[in-house]
Amino acid sequence: MSIATEEQTVVEKVPKQLYIGGEWRDATAGATLEVLDPATEEPLCAVADATPEDANAALDAAVAMQKEWAAIPPNDRAGILWTAFEALVERADELALLMTLEMGKPVAESKAEIIYAADFFRWFSGEALRIDGNYKQFANGTSRVLVMKQPVGPSLMITPWNFPMAMGTRKVGPAIAAGCTIVMKPAQQTPLSMLALGQILAEAGLPGGVFNIITTSSSGKTTGPLIEDPRLRKLSFTGSTEVGRSLIAASAKNVLQVSMELGGNAPFLIFEDADLDAAVEGALLAKMRNIGEACTSANRFHVAESIQPEFSRRLGDRMGALKMGRGTEEDVKVGPLIDQPSREKVAELVRDALQKGATPVVGGEIPDGRGYFFPPTVLADVPREARVFHEEIFGPVAPVGTFESEGDAIARANDTEYGLVAYVFTRDLKRALRVCEALETGMVGLNQGMVSNAGAPFGGVKQSGIGREGGKEGLEEFLETKYVAVNL
Ligand code: ADP
Repeated sequence: MSIATEEQTVVEKVPKQLYIGGEWRDATAGATLEVLDPATEEPLCAVADATPEDANAALDAAVAMQKEWAAIPPNDRAGILWTAFEALVERADELALLMTLEMGKPVAESKAEIIYAADFFRWFSGEALRIDGNYKQFANGTSRVLVMKQPVGPSLMITPWNFPMAMGTRKVGPAIAAGCTIVMKPAQQTPLSMLALGQILAEAGLPGGVFNIITTSSSGKTTGPLIEDPRLRKLSFTGSTEVGRSLIAASAKNVLQVSMELGGNAPFLIFEDADLDAAVEGALLAKMRNIGEACTSANRFHVAESIQPEFSRRLGDRMGALKMGRGTEEDVKVGPLIDQPSREKVAELVRDALQKGATPVVGGEIPDGRGYFFPPTVLADVPREARVFHEEIFGPVAPVGTFESEGDAIARANDTEYGLVAYVFTRDLKRALRVCEALETGMVGLNQGMVSNAGAPFGGVKQSGIGREGGKEGLEEFLETKYVAVNL
């Protein structure tokens, strides 16, 4: 099959309709929204553009199914997740191509995301069997305390475009394990991966109505009424802090349970005693994974003064050598950014840093031609006040500055309203633990450039979010605790 035909086939295979109550159907008004390939700026296909009525129908389906679904034995819920895990792994190549077409990242990275996404189903397939409670005496010995865990209920999930599959399975896995029903709204730029997941879960035996998908070009208008609907019990969101804040405010009306995975501004600290080879490898991973379009992406490098020049040069050499191009092409390591406004923001942050005195090491200029490309860029000697140190870049730009002492490094790292992740490179064990304790983040990569793992609690503090995804903590987000005081 020629490459173009293979691309066409994977796109054609995906359902383009809304998935409601186990049926694929058009949007009420028959409207559709176009999905573009960010590497060519050409349309790939169109999918249904849901109205608020469609969203309401999806919630109706989720509500109708909640009681029955919660009563299904854990073994059956675990089995469905395991079957879907195997299907994701089996179909990883075609799903990776589909993801690259709608999102832009290199196919190898898309495939790694499919495997990562599948891992959440494997992990929560096991967790589905381990939902437990507690039984104990009142402290004064008179009665008994019985604690039970129950599914929180119908859940709305809103996911971003940067990890079109994994940000979905990370929520869907624990919800299925816990016995919650779901209305899923993927990002309008990348709806295809989630539609493919709907098909996979249906084939794995998930009853209709448990997982409903609405794709829409008007996110706020379509999901707003659901958030205000008292039948909805949970909102799980991954996206920008700005939108997260407004969703938390809207959730106040019905005191909706919320999980929020929001923005980040990850500091990457390198002490003078660090293994520099490992730090450069870690930096490359923390910066360039997903073309820098990740909330965990290293946003700023704070390096001990004595090693800053060498680190900047070595990182520049490595980043400058990465091949940029359409994610489907061989050896490409840097795909296009998602759209023009995103690229313009990255370019603006680079201009601002250069104007304020940063030294260009590599990259920095928007290339000619089609596609929203921005080259890997390293800026050295970045002054503290540069915007690039304070705003989420979401692109392949590594600004490097210095610190004077351990205390200064920690102060700089914590000088942000965000608190998702930080990276620390040092060989001194005591320092490592001191710094990890002092960092105001939900996660730390210690001598490691990546933290994501299905079995670990992913999440942020401060304005990076509320709650955790993955690990046993991820399941708790979809469970309520009920305590029964037992009179013996
Ligand atoms: P990003 O910068 O990653 O696009 P957003 O926060 O804008 O982050 O988007 C994340 C998800 O939130 C997407 O699915 C998007 O469609 C959705 N979204 C954006 N605005 C709203 C809103 N007002 N209400 C509900 N969902 C929204």
